Amino acid sequence: MFDAEQSLRDERTNLVHQLTELGANEDGELRDDVSFGEGFADAAAATAERTEVMGLVESVKGMLDNVDIALERLEDGSYGTCAECGKQIGQARIEFRPESIYCVDCKAKAS
Ligand SMILES: [Zn+2]
Repeated sequence: MFDAEQSLRDERTNLVHQLTELGANEDGELRDDVSFGEGFADAAAATAERTEVMGLVESVKGMLDNVDIALERLEDGSYGTCAECGKQIGQARIEFRPESIYCVDCKAKAS
């Protein structure tokens, strides 16, 4: 049987690992000891690299936030229903994306 909590926890571990690899903590903040100056010919290249990494960190952090929200909803028992309209999200969608908190219709409206 599909275990949403296990999937979310696995995904969370994976995302935190990605943040660590990017040199950020779980809050999406870059660690102070990460240097972007090394290996670059000039400061502009280092800045460009930093901007790119920050963008990656932000997108991973966004996914992590979604996973955390889904885990909270698992705890309060609202998991599996749409946070917008309250309808069942549907098992297929949950299995495809365990962090879903909106049904397909509401998700389509939001984006
Ligand atoms: Zn909905």
